[in-house]
Amino acid sequence: MKVAVIGTGIAGVSVAKRLAALAHVNVEIFDKSRGTGGRMSVRHAGEHSFDHGAQFFTARTRTFKDFLADYRAAGVVVEWHPKIATLSPAAKLDDRIWREPHFVALPDMNGLCKVISRDLDVRLDTQVHCIEKNDGGWWVKTVKETFGPYDWVVSTAPPEQTRQLFPDNIGHGMDAARFAPCFSLLLGCFGSLPAWDAAVVKDSPINWLAFTDRKPGRNSQPALVAHADGAWSQLQYDTDRDQVKKLLIDAVATVVDIQHDSVGLHRWRYARVTVPLGQDFWINETSQLAACGDWCLGNRVEDAFISATRLAQRFERI
Ligand SMILES: Cc1cc2nc3c(=O)[nH]c(=O)nc-3n(C[C@H](O)[C@H](O)[C@H](O)COP(=O)(O)OP(=O)(O)OC[C@H]3O[C@@H](n4cnc5c(N)ncnc54)[C@H](O)[C@@H]3O)c2cc1C
Repeated sequence: MKVAVIGTGIAGVSVAKRLAALAHVNVEIFDKSRGTGGRMSVRHAGEHSFDHGAQFFTARTRTFKDFLADYRAAGVVVEWHPKIATLSPAAKLDDRIWREPHFVALPDMNGLCKVISRDLDVRLDTQVHCIEKNDGGWWVKTVKETFGPYDWVVSTAPPEQTRQLFPDNIGHGMDAARFAPCFSLLLGCFGSLPAWDAAVVKDSPINWLAFTDRKPGRNSQPALVAHADGAWSQLQYDTDRDQVKKLLIDAVATVVDIQHDSVGLHRWRYARVTVPLGQDFWINETSQLAACGDWCLGNRVEDAFISATRLAQRFERI
């Protein structure tokens, strides 16, 4: 059986890895980005490296804990113990305590997806434009090339994008899942810096700050990531990028006094799931199409992994 997987985020590489381990399955993965990781990715700017998507992940299920064990033993995933604060423009700084282990991948957040996909057949920089079926099976099309045929196509793109890839009449029901966007402001910093490594921010357009260079195993000059609040990002979604940068730099300045010599901005259109689908994965066995990802179950890395794992388990019975 030949399967095409769209996406090299944690869901894509996890489902592909499990399927590739089955004797009768041959898997190829496609991603439009230049690197693996999806929303667990890194942006480099000169001497600064920013984890501009997922900041960390937690492991609450036995399945995910067991999966991570080998990667922890190999030093690809480690626990992060930041000095973490709560900040607000109006109030004084408070320390904050995390009550469960928080993990990061090395050397950057995409390190885990990179290692999982190491032996898989991955085509990066390959944006799938549509998929089409004829007698031989499914064909995956980019603007320039056609790949296939495949017996099955599994998409891990957000549901709105998955529906655009799938034929018109297929994919109903995915629409129930909803996302909020997020602007990530990336400041390359110098000079004196605060003692905290990361902070939850209240009463502000931003809700998170982190010096991602201070995570374990990084090799970067001071790199501050500020995440804008989802509702604020939605409101400013089409605002001129320079204006958004200015508003976010001003918001950072109300809670921390720092100097920066580089500024970057990333707009995540589908950042955090606000309403999940509420089922492990989406599948249409007649059409031989399936989809999985965080949006099926929640809004965290672990949700994406669990969704992918449950879909792979279903394939074991096909
Ligand atoms: C700013 C931000 C902060 C976050 N913070 C945290 C956090 O601290 N902790 C946590 O647990 N989670 C966090 N998350 C959520 C977490 O990143 C996601 O839950 C998880 O990474 C989703 O993985 P996924 O594989 O389902 O999707 P994705 O990682 O989005 O992967 C989908 C992949 O599909 C590819 N793709 C899409 N369309 C196409 C196409 N047409 N052709 C080819 N490829 C395509 C994309 O390039 C992408 O690589 C955060 C997310 C963001 C954006």
